[in-house]
Amino acid sequence: MNMKCTILAALSVLSFQPLFAQEINRSKGDPKLSEYYEPAAPIVTPGRTSQDPPSDAIILFNGNDFSQWKSEKGSPIAWTLENGAMVVKGGSGGIRTKLAFGDCQLHVEFRTPAEVKGDGQGRGNSGVYLMDRYELQILDNYNNKTYVNGQVGSIYKQLPPLANASRPPGEWQTYDIIFIAPRFYADGRVKSQATITVIHNGVLVQNNATIWGGSEYVGAPVYKKHGEKEPIYLQDHGNPTAFRNIWIREL
Ligand code: MG
Repeated sequence: MNMKCTILAALSVLSFQPLFAQEINRSKGDPKLSEYYEPAAPIVTPGRTSQDPPSDAIILFNGNDFSQWKSEKGSPIAWTLENGAMVVKGGSGGIRTKLAFGDCQLHVEFRTPAEVKGDGQGRGNSGVYLMDRYELQILDNYNNKTYVNGQVGSIYKQLPPLANASRPPGEWQTYDIIFIAPRFYADGRVKSQATITVIHNGVLVQNNATIWGGSEYVGAPVYKKHGEKEPIYLQDHGNPTAFRNIWIREL
């Protein structure tokens, strides 16, 4: 055996030995050592369909009233209630929840107008703002082109969606969102950025994506220190986009 072969043989023994030892431990060890029971995962009764709120959800809109919401303009909400949905009244301003949230799982159903008007960003535009400032775009992108980082499923002007899962205008669509809030140091520096996962109509469009700051129309996103919990905000972008069945679970 020459020197090269000797070294290779020694290396192979060294590299395989730990694996071999591990296999022995697995077959002889106590499996209970790697099992634990506390703290138990809380029992949550799922809805009959994935759209129905689970037992521990906070219902933000069930079709009946605006009791969980207030207008950004301080006046009574001018959006209309129609057949269990709330419909944006263009020009009246956005609405935000009375309660504030940080890390959360949020379910929102939306419907862009059946009557197609406008194009690009002007068609069925609204948005779900996590913590009042990180916009998950709502837009009618069914055969409607716009900049990819501003289309439905994007984090506006930051993160394009992994897919365009749009349903046609006038049909109800779902967003299931998992949002982890950013953390800040006392002096305002960012300790950890926000992350978001979004499933649009059952299709993953944001996969634990890192958010780079508050949504800005002009210029780069930027973080500004804010509370540990902030309201959910729904945008009035002038189009009669509708919402129904909104619920949230705090994480
Ligand atoms: Mg928008």
